[in-house]
This record gives sequence, structure tokens and C-alpha cells, in this order.
Amino acid sequence: MPSPTATRYREQLGLSYPAASYRLIRKLLFSLLVESKRAICLRCKQPIDSVEDMTIDHMIPWRNKADAQELFYDIENIAFSHPRCNSSTLRERCRQGHLFADDNVLYDANGARRCRTCNREKMRRAYHRKKKQRG
Ligand SMILES: [Zn+2]
Ligand SMILES: [Zn+2]
Repeated sequence: MPSPTATRYREQLGLSYPAASYRLIRKLLFSLLVESKRAICLRCKQPIDSVEDMTIDHMIPWRNKADAQELFYDIENIAFSHPRCNSSTLRERCRQGHLFADDNVLYDANGARRCRTCNREKMRRAYHRKKKQRG
């Protein structure tokens, strides 16, 4: 059961108090980024236009790392990206089911991720096809 206070805050803010606080902090952060001309996407290098278009991104991914907490909170490891570019909102695996581990990710010019294993397979298939054609 939510407390009467929590219910009242939710009625007044339209969101739970923690959710509203988080939203406010994001807005504040975005306005500071714009002011300091840092509202640029880490991955695609295009401007981030609105707070809805901003996600907090980690340059070095922290998931499944021994030093996950260190990486997660390290300010030097923080950058900003579009939701569509953010590594954490993307799938963990490629279409063929290969894990997007650090050593299995390629970034194309748009900042989109490519699976290195699939890429290698594709190159190999193309190579063999060419070989066959030459006879
Ligand atoms: Zn982007
Ligand atoms: Zn793959």
C-alpha cells in the first residue's frame, strides 16, 4: 500500500515522487548540457534536441564487468546519446544470437552496432562466392 503522502504527491505531480524527481533531474541536466554545448550524441555525433532524446550512456559498458559499479558511477565514463543510439537500450544480441560483447561489436559511420562475428561470416561467404565464380 502506498502511504497517503505518496498518493497525494502522485495526484499532484501526475507521477510518483521518485519518478517526478528523476524527470526533473533529467530536465536540469539537459539544460546544463545545452548551456555548455555538450548536448551531442556520443555515438552518432548529432545534436540531442530534447530531454526525451537524451539518455545517459557509458563509454565503457559496465554490464557483466567485475568493476561494474566503478564503471557505472565514473563521471569520466559518462556521455550522452540518443535513445536509439544508446548501447543499453539496444538488444544484447545480434539477430543471429551472438552476444554484443566488447570484442564482438563494430560501429558503423552512423554509430549503429554491427556484430563482428556476422560481419566476418559475411566476408567469408562473399570471398568463397567470388572464388567459386572464378572457378
Ligand atoms: Zn545518436
Ligand atoms: Zn552475429
